[in-house]
Amino acid sequence: MSNTLTISSAHEKLRSKKISAVELVQSCIDRIESVDKDINAVVYKNFDAALQQAKKCDEEGVFDHPLTGIPYLTKDVFCEEGVPTTACSNMLRDKDYTPPFHSTTTKRLTDLGAISLGKANTDEFTMGASTETSCYGVTKNPWNLECVAGGSSGGPAAAVAADECLFALGTDTGGSIRQPASFCNCTGLRTTYGRTSRYGVMSMASSLDTIGPLAKNTEDLAIILEAIAGKDPKDGTSGNTPVPKYTDALTGNLKGMTIGLPKEYFIEGIEKDVEEGIRASVKVLEELGATIKEISLPHTQYAASTYYILCPSEVSSNMARYDGIRFGHTTEGINNLNDYYTAVRSEGFGAEVKRRILIGTYALSAGYFDAYYRKAQKVRTLITKDFEDAFASVDAIISPVGPNVSFKIGAHEGDPLAMYLEDVFTIPQVMAGIPALSVPCGFDSNNMPIGLQIMGPQWGEEVVLKVGDAYEKATQWNEKKPNL
Ligand code: GLN
Repeated sequence: MSNTLTISSAHEKLRSKKISAVELVQSCIDRIESVDKDINAVVYKNFDAALQQAKKCDEEGVFDHPLTGIPYLTKDVFCEEGVPTTACSNMLRDKDYTPPFHSTTTKRLTDLGAISLGKANTDEFTMGASTETSCYGVTKNPWNLECVAGGSSGGPAAAVAADECLFALGTDTGGSIRQPASFCNCTGLRTTYGRTSRYGVMSMASSLDTIGPLAKNTEDLAIILEAIAGKDPKDGTSGNTPVPKYTDALTGNLKGMTIGLPKEYFIEGIEKDVEEGIRASVKVLEELGATIKEISLPHTQYAASTYYILCPSEVSSNMARYDGIRFGHTTEGINNLNDYYTAVRSEGFGAEVKRRILIGTYALSAGYFDAYYRKAQKVRTLITKDFEDAFASVDAIISPVGPNVSFKIGAHEGDPLAMYLEDVFTIPQVMAGIPALSVPCGFDSNNMPIGLQIMGPQWGEEVVLKVGDAYEKATQWNEKKPNL
C-alpha cells in the first residue's frame, strides 16, 4: 500500500509513473477510513479537494519536486483557505471558522503540489501534552489504544505513525512536536525560532511558537524543511538566515563530531527503560564516529517553571481576540458588553485554556510583573546562555525527549502539574530558541516507543538532521510499525 511509503520513495514511484498521485491520495484516505475511528487523529476530512488536486497533478504529469503529489495532514491550527480550522476548541468549532487565506507554510506546500488531506487533532489551542483537551476527544496511541498519542500534536504524530498520511505539520511551543513524535515512533523537528513562518498559524505563545514537520524518517524532514523554511515578509520574526540544502548534510558519517550528554537530563523520576534507551543510543553514535562528552546545562531545573510563567502570560494576551465579536463563539440574549464577554469566553474555552489565561493575567498584573514575568525572562536568558556555553565545545547535544513513554488516557486527570512535568526535557530548547529533533530509539518493556532528542545551536538544523539521519540508518527503529 502506497500510504506506507516515505516521501522520498513515493517521489521515485510518482516520477517513474509506478503509482499515480490519485492512487497515493486514495490509499491514505482508505487507511484513514479504516483505522481512524479507533485512533481519532483526523478532525476534518478534505478528501474531495485532495482527490481533485491529485488528479490535476497526474494530468500535468510533472513530478520534479519531491513534494509534488505527496499527501499530508495539518494540525488544526494552520489556516488553509476555505478549510474549517478550529484549534480543536468549541470557541471556533461552534462557528466553523473558515479562514479566507493560507498560512505561509501551507501556501508554500500547495504551490509545490503537496496535497492536504485535512486537519489533525490537537490539544485546545495547542495547550497540553496529551490531546485530551481537544473538543473532538483524545487521540489514541497507535501502539496501544488505551494510551495517549502525546500532545499537543498528537493527531499529526498518530496519523504519521499509523500511515494515514506521508507527513504532517505540527507546532512546537514547549515540546508539542517532539513529545508526540517520541510517543508514536515517528520523527519530528522543532526548528530554530524564526526558521519557519508563523503567519497564518493560530498563536499560543508568540515568542515560543515554532512550526515544523513530523514524518517517517529524518530524510523526509529535511525535504520538507527545505520547502517551508525561510524569510517570510508576513512574519516579522522570521529570520533572514539562508536556508541550506538540508538533504546534502545527510552523509551518514559522524566522524569528527563531538556530541554533548548533559548530566541534568538523567534525573530521579526518569523511567529506567528510557534511560537505558538513551545510553544504548550513545554507543551507536560512538560507533558512527562521534565523540561523546559529558556536559552541564546548570539551569535546566528552572526551565519548566519559567515556561509556565512566560507561556501563560503570552497565552492570556493571544486569547483576547476570541471575544465573540472579532472571532469565535457567540451567545444570544445578553445586552451588556462585560457580561457578553464573560458568557462567550466561559462557554467557548475549556478548563486548561482558562487556567492559563488566569495564570498569565496574574503574572502580568502591575503588582506581580516584577516578581514573576520579569524574573522568568531573566532565567530564560540564563538558560539560553547555558546552551551558548555548551555549544562552544560540542556540535550537538542529546537527551531523552521526555522522562517517560506514553501514559494511559486519564492518568493525569485533575493534576495539571503532572501534565506540565511531561515537558521538563522539551522546554529548555524553547527558552533558547534552538532546534531539536526527536527520533525513535527503541521500545520499553511494554513495547511503547522511546524518543532520542538531538539539539543543535540556533539555525543549526543541518547538524541535528545529520545526526538523526545517521542514527536512524544505523538502527532503523523508525521502521517499526504498530499492529493495527
Ligand atoms: N505541553 C506544553 C504545553 O502544554 C507544550 C505545548 C506546545 O508545545 N504547544 O504548554
